[in-house]
Amino acid sequence: AAPAADFWRAAERHLIRYGGPFTPAVIERAAGSYVYDSTGRAILDFTSGQMSGLLGHSHPAIVDTVQHMVSTLDHLFSWMLSRPVVDLATALAESLPDPLSKVLLLSTGGESNEAAVRLAKLYTGGYEVVALSQSYHGVTHASAAASYSVPRRGYGPVIPGNIVIPAPDAYRPTVMRDGRLDWRAQLDQAFAMVDAQSVGSLAACIVEPILSTGGIIELPPGYLAALKAKCHERGMLLILDEAQTGLCRTGDWYAFQRDGVTPDIITLSKTLGAGLPLSAVVTSPEIEERCHERGFYFATTHTSDPLPAAVGLAVLETLRREALDAAARRLGDRLRAGLLDLRGRHEAVGDVRGRGLLQGIELVTDRQTRAPANALGAAVTRACFDLGLHLNIVQLSAVSSVLRIAPPLTMSDDELDLGLSILDEALATTRA
Ligand code: PMP
Repeated sequence: AAPAADFWRAAERHLIRYGGPFTPAVIERAAGSYVYDSTGRAILDFTSGQMSGLLGHSHPAIVDTVQHMVSTLDHLFSWMLSRPVVDLATALAESLPDPLSKVLLLSTGGESNEAAVRLAKLYTGGYEVVALSQSYHGVTHASAAASYSVPRRGYGPVIPGNIVIPAPDAYRPTVMRDGRLDWRAQLDQAFAMVDAQSVGSLAACIVEPILSTGGIIELPPGYLAALKAKCHERGMLLILDEAQTGLCRTGDWYAFQRDGVTPDIITLSKTLGAGLPLSAVVTSPEIEERCHERGFYFATTHTSDPLPAAVGLAVLETLRREALDAAARRLGDRLRAGLLDLRGRHEAVGDVRGRGLLQGIELVTDRQTRAPANALGAAVTRACFDLGLHLNIVQLSAVSSVLRIAPPLTMSDDELDLGLSILDEALATTRA
């Protein structure tokens, strides 16, 4: 039997299926903007791994850091401190506006949101958490409760006190004025519902600046400020989940900077480790102090581990040294122009949205009704893969026709153009 056949047989026999389906290739190597399969075929990576690898695959700064750390200081008891941990906490605090200066280092995005919600609960004394309907915050307890249904389905009640409000979806607006989404009226209505539903124990609202898994839904300008005001009127904290948007992805160091609104707690994950497991929660000294007094505990096996912390530091240094925020803006503009060109030439491209290097196109069967072209989306994704481009569909609710494009910030213009031309060819040749 061919080795690949053995591989798939063993995969089928021994892997628990955790969603899926699996990509139809045995990936053997990854470098820069490409992954390579076992036949040597190069596949352009428009997902940065799992939306994490900002620096591309095996960036020299990360390779050097991992090699150095694994041979000198790999892993420690959770309360044993090392330089990389304090240096990364310091660097994160310096990259964020006041008063965000107290840092907890963990491994995954779900964990960081779990910890953020616990901080909000201790600080406020409440337990109710408000989230947007098309959010994704992770698969763990509180993170899943604040997410759309897939991470929760089948397990019974996840966590009490979960209140969901509608996401401000400009493409499918539910509250309109002059034919467009009236997000202020929608938010007012939503919080009237929150007040009616709450048992008087509100702790936090958790949101992504761009709902990525929810279909690349960007919070409109002014939304975060209005949301923060609604939270503070009710004694709740605003938690911002920048797992995907943080660290230059959208062209700014943090997506919230464009709104001039500082959250009470920010969580960072995916992009912070550039592909290695690392996440962070950052909050104010005031919140940290009260939570400490009330017994905050969130130690995991890998809390404050030196190796991932050193990687995080290398990521921040590389982003700064290579001016990758500017690169994300420049490449983002090039990507937007290319996607708008595709919309001009392919009737199925109904919408182009997102910013920087986190954008998406929505495929529709009819531009008037905006009916999602789910089958076409799946077929185009598959056609792209066969042509040497990996991108993915964000799969939420009845709409699973949004193709997400989140390449590394280190991608060249030529690579970006190649990806766009493959997408063009796939759109031109694919029928659902
Ligand atoms: N928050 C956001 C915005 C995410 O996109 C994700 C992962 N898709 C998570 C949290 C969860 O992170 P993890 O899978 O590392 O737990």
